[in-house]
Amino acid sequence: MIRELADRLISRRRLDAEEYRTLLSGWDEATLAYLRQDAVRTAHKQFGRGVYVRGLIEVSSCCRNDCLYCGLRCSNTSAERYRLSDEQILECCREGYAAGFRTFVLQGGEDMTFTDSRLEGLIGRIRAEFSDAAITLSLGERSEESYRRLRDAGADRYLLRHEAASKTLYEKLHPQSMSWENRMRCIEALKRVGFQTGVGMMVGAPGQSVSDLADDLMFIQRIEPEMIGIGPFIPHCATPFSAHPAGSLPLTYLLLAIVRIMHPKALIPATTALATLSANGRREGILSGANVVMPNLSPSEVRNKYAIYDGKANRGSEAAEGLALLEQELNEIGYRIDYSRGDYI
Ligand code: SAM
Repeated sequence: MIRELADRLISRRRLDAEEYRTLLSGWDEATLAYLRQDAVRTAHKQFGRGVYVRGLIEVSSCCRNDCLYCGLRCSNTSAERYRLSDEQILECCREGYAAGFRTFVLQGGEDMTFTDSRLEGLIGRIRAEFSDAAITLSLGERSEESYRRLRDAGADRYLLRHEAASKTLYEKLHPQSMSWENRMRCIEALKRVGFQTGVGMMVGAPGQSVSDLADDLMFIQRIEPEMIGIGPFIPHCATPFSAHPAGSLPLTYLLLAIVRIMHPKALIPATTALATLSANGRREGILSGANVVMPNLSPSEVRNKYAIYDGKANRGSEAAEGLALLEQELNEIGYRIDYSRGDYI
């Protein structure tokens, strides 16, 4: 039965919600290995043995939101707050460009000092100085007008995980001031204004059921995002979920394999959260169909302050200065870094 479902996913690249629920409830190690093998084959056909690298610049740890799972939530008074200046961000881009990066990801909390006009100026300067690099933003929920201005200024991609396709689960993970409807509106708006759009969710988020994950898969199947970020939930000590266990690695690998089979061309990172939970996490992510890694380009003095969960990896091959180490890690599993822009095509 489960094997039949796996075969159906492989041949049709889609299942229905009930079938995802059955697959996610009944999989075993053999199913996982079988789906990962096909996911890797699918990724090879599309991307060869190359893994795209994106330089991650964590521009601000200040956030107006209060997401219950995140260490940067505004009610965490012990969080260390910083925000980078435009000059500091440009300096990170310069270092990254010299190291070979051709995508910069500007990610941060919802820090309202990053106004539309400030971001337009910053994006314009990055564009002007690094004309062959892609600019990805991950700055949370904004108005459609704001997204349009950022897109017009020259940003190419935007990551905004949907976090939960189930409204009930979304509401358990977020404060009342945030709404599932607005998250969905933002994702639609990002697509409408022409961003390559990334969605995704945490695996093992508090209160998440197999049925919720099946809903996430149906959502990803329906909206056909260009990028899909899936990583395990990891607790942060100063959040209401501090005692909740981290998400399962094998289940994360299974979901990566499923979304790769579903969307052969999608850009799928082996996330930092995977690398944080296991020394092999990133490699295992690639061996589940992921094809992107996002080493940290933030100034070293702020890296520990961007603490969204406990123990977040930002050194070694998770760091931009560790590209040689990353190349070595990838070579060991038969892959190599692909330094091209790596747009969705
Ligand atoms: N503020 C922007 C946003 O919300 O999209 C970007 C930064 S936010 C910290 C980036 C992602 O981190 C979120 O989409 C969430 O899924 C992930 N994240 C936050 N807390 C986490 C945790 N405790 N474990 C794993 N991932 C987490």
